[in-house]
Amino acid sequence: MTATAARATPPVTGRETVPFADCEIVPAAREAAVRVMASGWVTTGPEVLAFESEFAARVNAPHAVAVASCTAALELALRSLQLSPGEPVLTSSNTFCGAVHAIVHAGLRPVLVDVDPVTGMPTEATTRAAARSCGGPAAMVVTHWAGDPADVVALAAAAGLTLDRVVEDAAHALGSKHRGLAVGEGVTACFSFYATKNLPLGEGGMVTTRDGARAEWIRSARLHGMSADAWRRYLPGGRWRYDVAQEGFKANMTDLQAAIGREQLRCLDVWQRRREEIAARYDDRLRALDGVVLPHRPDRRDSRHAWHLYPVQLLPGAGPGRDDVADALAHRGIGTSVHFIPVHHLTWLRDVVDVAPGGLPGADELFARVLSLPMYPRLTDRQVDVVCDALEACLTRSTTTGLSP
Ligand SMILES: *Cc1c(COP(=O)(O)O)cnc(C)c1O
Repeated sequence: MTATAARATPPVTGRETVPFADCEIVPAAREAAVRVMASGWVTTGPEVLAFESEFAARVNAPHAVAVASCTAALELALRSLQLSPGEPVLTSSNTFCGAVHAIVHAGLRPVLVDVDPVTGMPTEATTRAAARSCGGPAAMVVTHWAGDPADVVALAAAAGLTLDRVVEDAAHALGSKHRGLAVGEGVTACFSFYATKNLPLGEGGMVTTRDGARAEWIRSARLHGMSADAWRRYLPGGRWRYDVAQEGFKANMTDLQAAIGREQLRCLDVWQRRREEIAARYDDRLRALDGVVLPHRPDRRDSRHAWHLYPVQLLPGAGPGRDDVADALAHRGIGTSVHFIPVHHLTWLRDVVDVAPGGLPGADELFARVLSLPMYPRLTDRQVDVVCDALEACLTRSTTTGLSP
């Protein structure tokens, strides 16, 4: 079963619509889900163990622990550091709200780092400035935005942290590589299997780590802090006695999710190659468009962009603004999104981080310009062309006829 075989060509009925996102669950994964449901054991069990070892092998990580979401993965990874309540943790200002909630839920204090509007990620200089502003952070979350691999080693040095105090938010970065190393080979990284991510299961997350003790702490914490293998107690031959030797949470992955994940994982290489083809087609079509800046990507052959997103930037003054372009594309049936609304633009979080909109020039500038175009393996070449034609029409016709289609 190849990843794209199930793709039916949509009928041409007038204008083709292009949704922003897609969630492909391959037939083998649906069959695996049915098999697990019929097995009599649907929660954490042998499928989770198998998914963990297959995932670990995929990203060259010695340990992988499956959890309920990437948000849970980030919280548990931060808690495993055993920091004191309220200690400062650096995070990109251009990230998903859940990643900041994870810091708050771990009892720590998020400190926003401004981003370079070109890369959408913190630089060594902005990281150094944020580290100084909080009197030295206790830890840092590094986000590989869009799938473009961040330089974790350089950013850790800029923050004055050792690598064991860095948690990578790899929600976009399954398939990314930095200088020959897969994202996931680092000390600690957190992945998402949310419905729109590169390995969609619906919901789910994974922590990979080089640190065996940390893996064991998270493995127990994800299931109430119960002693090792407590999940087996209701299986035939299982024992009822267990201990709770550490603080626990409810963040385990089910066998139903893991069985789907194992089959989806077999498609990942094919899917990643298709994402690269789509990015190359967008590049070819959009490179010549005035006022459109292509997404940043690594300039080294031993690094790799995972193309979770294809975020272009629309330069001010070159045509209509980003919001008008997004509306005009929506009117033509083309979905787009913005990654991200910066953390300090969100009502509740802005009070938590104590930064007002306008307070981080790089993130504020990027937010005004950035637009994510559809990017998923089942996107056809024709759909990419439809998106590019529509974007070109928006940008070139706007001056004479306005933006209406
Ligand atoms: C999706 C996402 C998350 C959260 O993932 P969940 O699995 O939905 O909890 C965290 N960080 C980033 C950057 C994301 O895009």
